[in-house]
Amino acid sequence: MARPVKPRRVCAMPAIAEFAPLLPCAGQVEMAVDEYETIRLIDHLGLSQEECAAQMGVARTTAQAVYGSARRKLADALVNGKRLLIQGGSYDLCPKAHSCPGKPCCRRCQAQSPKK
Ligand SMILES: [Zn+2]
Repeated sequence: MARPVKPRRVCAMPAIAEFAPLLPCAGQVEMAVDEYETIRLIDHLGLSQEECAAQMGVARTTAQAVYGSARRKLADALVNGKRLLIQGGSYDLCPKAHSCPGKPCCRRCQAQSPKK
């Protein structure tokens, strides 16, 4: 049985959740929303893995594993010409998600999160 996964905080949903090659493609890759969030935070906004983990409310090792999985999926889609779908996963959408598009809103979020 799979262990229950603690939800990861996601501060922005993908604007586009489906990418496809112009030419007929060779399959499909499904990326979870929490995996997408690590790509957004680390590769797009330049956060460190530690900062990413803090913002998403998970351990650094968890963030590292999620990020690694996201990168493998991106590479699979890019190299093998597959469709990429971003959906599902275990996450809680940050209540400030719509007020800070494209920016890390971690500090504001953390101030509002109950202490664990
Ligand atoms: Zn947030």
